[in-house]
Amino acid sequence: MTPAPAKRPLTGETLDSLRLAVAERGEPEFRAKQILDWVYKKRARSWDEMTNLPKGLRAWLADTFTLMPASLVLNRHSADVTDKLLLELWDKSLIETVIIRAPQEGVGMECSRKTICISTQVGCAMGCVFCASGLAGLRRDMSAGEIVAQLLQVCYAEDERTPRARAELASFDNIVVMGMGEPLANYEALMRALTIVNADWGLGFGARRITVSTSGLAPKIARLADEALGFRLAVSLHGATDEVRSRIMPVNKAYPLPKLLPAIRAFGERHGRMVTLEFILIEDVNDSLEQARALRDIALDLHAHVNLIPYNTVEGLPWRRPDAVRQQAFADVLRKSGVSATLRREKGHEIAAACGQLRLKTERERAGGEDST
Ligand code: SAH
Ligand code: SF4
Repeated sequence: MTPAPAKRPLTGETLDSLRLAVAERGEPEFRAKQILDWVYKKRARSWDEMTNLPKGLRAWLADTFTLMPASLVLNRHSADVTDKLLLELWDKSLIETVIIRAPQEGVGMECSRKTICISTQVGCAMGCVFCASGLAGLRRDMSAGEIVAQLLQVCYAEDERTPRARAELASFDNIVVMGMGEPLANYEALMRALTIVNADWGLGFGARRITVSTSGLAPKIARLADEALGFRLAVSLHGATDEVRSRIMPVNKAYPLPKLLPAIRAFGERHGRMVTLEFILIEDVNDSLEQARALRDIALDLHAHVNLIPYNTVEGLPWRRPDAVRQQAFADVLRKSGVSATLRREKGHEIAAACGQLRLKTERERAGGEDST
């Protein structure tokens, strides 16, 4: 079992759990809301800023909770449209959070929508053969507080990048749970985190603007469909037949397409909204026109949107993306049959899709450093 941090992350508390904690200390319950307002509405970076709280309460908070359980190691602001935040957790684990400023189709080069890509686990146990996040296996699940903290760190970074009045703190448009880890394998912490992100006493962020991406844990997809909050779903398909999918995604042995596809269909029907099928194009693995036709049939049947992502090379792995002509031919098969499909080309997406690589690089450098001493 993973040892626990010395203090509870404040960002993992719900209004109810914090009310209980302050009540146990003999404080009035309304203090809980005041504390959370400081965290999410005013973005206080220290206990001292919380000036409407009695000093004794502030001292108790400081002894009991960590205000920010993920510290910023590196903010790689790139000239194009993405930023990557490398964050360190209490046990020195590294995670990544990505800010994508996506130029919207039809709006030209104007950077309009801001999407935040968050991680849910340190490493990943699913073992997809093409993915940097899973290379060293799973180190541990992230706690709800650590998951939420990523979004606050993004807010801090954005507030600093564009100084503005407190009343107009930086915000973003979408959250995608597509960083490191398999979110549905850390289900309880994910749901608690997203509840905090969604609540009006928390970040107040609409569930419809939150997309959870999974490698295909069918029973958990069914559970997600039953949640009161209507999150969006993306499924990493990456193979349109069991044969191809099993070759690159071990999860397909437990939940092959005859189990996975009905779960996706049920989710879509339940929420009345299109599910997205993610499909990375890997040369000579899943980029044949035969795969394109099989994917087309699945997408038409599920009434799903397809997101084609040219593979990003990972150091140490042999996979490559197909050339632009082949990518286009694949996309054409889908589009000609009326499937709603996007082919990602913009540079910015590379960083998002390659989530896990900055952490991998830093981990490798750290390990190298330790070896040489
Ligand atoms: N575990 C979840 C969410 C995190 S992975 C999932 O698998 O859906 C987020 C997305 O990035 C997935 O679609 C994943 O397959 C994709 N991905 C992983 N490595 C990639 C790479 N090297 N190039 C492009 N996409 C990649
Ligand atoms: Fe894990 Fe997703 Fe990477 Fe597969 S693609 S190893 S599920 S993070």
